Amino acid sequence: MTRVRPVIVWFRDDLRLSDHPALHEAASRGVPVVGLYVRDEASPALKPPAARALGGATRWWLAQSLRALGKSLEAIGGSLVLRTGPAAAVIATLARGTSAQAVFWNDIAQAPHQAVAEEVKSALASDGIASQIFSGDLLVEPKAIRNKDNRGLRVFTPFWRRVQGLGDPPKPLPAPKKLASIGGVASEAPDDWKLEPTRPDWAGGLRVSWTPGEDGAQARLKAFLDRGIRGYSDDRDRPDHDGTSHLSPHLRFGEINPRQVWYAVRFTAAEHPRLAGDIDKFLSELGWREFCRHLLFDVPDLAERNLQGQFDAFPWQREARALKAWQRGLTGYPIVDAGMRELWHTGVMHNRVRMVVASFLVKHLLIDWRAGEQWFWDTLVDADAGSNPANWQWVAGSGADAAPYFRVFNPILQGEKFDPEGAYVRRWVPELARLSNDVIHQPWTATPIELTSAGIELGKSYPQPIVDHKQGRERALAAYTKIRGQD
Ligand code: FAD
Repeated sequence: MTRVRPVIVWFRDDLRLSDHPALHEAASRGVPVVGLYVRDEASPALKPPAARALGGATRWWLAQSLRALGKSLEAIGGSLVLRTGPAAAVIATLARGTSAQAVFWNDIAQAPHQAVAEEVKSALASDGIASQIFSGDLLVEPKAIRNKDNRGLRVFTPFWRRVQGLGDPPKPLPAPKKLASIGGVASEAPDDWKLEPTRPDWAGGLRVSWTPGEDGAQARLKAFLDRGIRGYSDDRDRPDHDGTSHLSPHLRFGEINPRQVWYAVRFTAAEHPRLAGDIDKFLSELGWREFCRHLLFDVPDLAERNLQGQFDAFPWQREARALKAWQRGLTGYPIVDAGMRELWHTGVMHNRVRMVVASFLVKHLLIDWRAGEQWFWDTLVDADAGSNPANWQWVAGSGADAAPYFRVFNPILQGEKFDPEGAYVRRWVPELARLSNDVIHQPWTATPIELTSAGIELGKSYPQPIVDHKQGRERALAAYTKIRGQD
């Protein structure tokens, strides 16, 4: 009796079962399916400097997400095979070993991933095995939105108008209810890959903050649509409120995709027309993710190169001590320190505060945005090859559609405006918890009695500001004047 030849589904940044076009197609053929994830640190296209290794926080997330995906596949009769090595060799070997008829995967519109996918395709072709590539990571593929010079758009508003003009994206596909599998295929285990920290185990905060995996992603989306989206337009700027979706790491790993979010949100919009403003705002944030990914498609070295060449001459300072103080949340500016400590504990930071801490680093401290981007890359669970450098360049003023460099956030006013009762600062900088609202964003203005009764000794239990705001601002503007007009 001849065995039905299976199809291999190669998972990458799409660790889900629903709206997974490659898996859907394989399952609908009624043939056995082998789910595969390859830990590829060997293909030249995925090695530095061509691509970046995952940071510590995303490695932790990946381990959890792979376990969740493995369980979900097993629950419907399938399995997830884990293998290490260069993807082309690993996949061709598995395809031969299982007598696979084809390998399917979803595209990742990023140069290193596309280069590796090409290698996989040709390795399979030389063995006479078919491959098929699907789209499912973005609302719109970058090639669909070009200007007349065939380049991606560099300004968000017209970009987003074009995306919206294309109408609704393809409807999400259901998860397969049942898979046939072939069994007996050897697999490594997530534990073998040592993705999680041990000595020291710094992931305690991540474990209590997140449920990686598709179920966790769907639960976050539901909770947000049930409760969070009302008032999103204003609340999204308030780090002291739970006013955003918390979907970013789930989107990063494709445990949910933007098409699914789009349709769920549109459904809510139809049921609650009064939420239209909040819903439009939320969708435009998804649009920013899309914009950053499209930018990355055009500029693969987005994390290294200033998009505006004049910034190549910027007089960045090499301030190792200041950088360390910033990383540890010890700058003496409570809103900055709260953000940096939230990041360390939870693997994310509120968007408003990301802008404030990034501005503080590149403007008050004159430290190259790449140093901050790299720290975020290592510590964020949502560290994204597009969104992280694009947003850093946006704040630095060197990017596409960027905030002008001379707009220097005042960390005191930002704190007072967006954390007016100091609740966010009290949560993440507990040594300041007993200060009154009047001084919590500038403890150095508190009287000695206020400080003593709050149990604070400035310079000891909490630092003095590492730079004076006014001087920092002036120094930043002076540095900027030096590069203006060069390009
Ligand atoms: P929500 O407000 O609920 O937004 C929904 C989704 O829209 C997010 O999950 C995200 O996918 C997308 N989104 C929202 N804002 C942005 C934005 N400015 N740019 C791109 N996408 C956006 N986001 C990342 O996903 N990964 C990163 O590595 C990243 N690095 C950043 C670095 C800096 C310096 C700054 C200022 C922002 C960065 N962001 C990054 C964007 C933003 O801060 C996060 O997406 C957001 O805080 C995630 O929280 P949420 O899912 O609750 O967002």
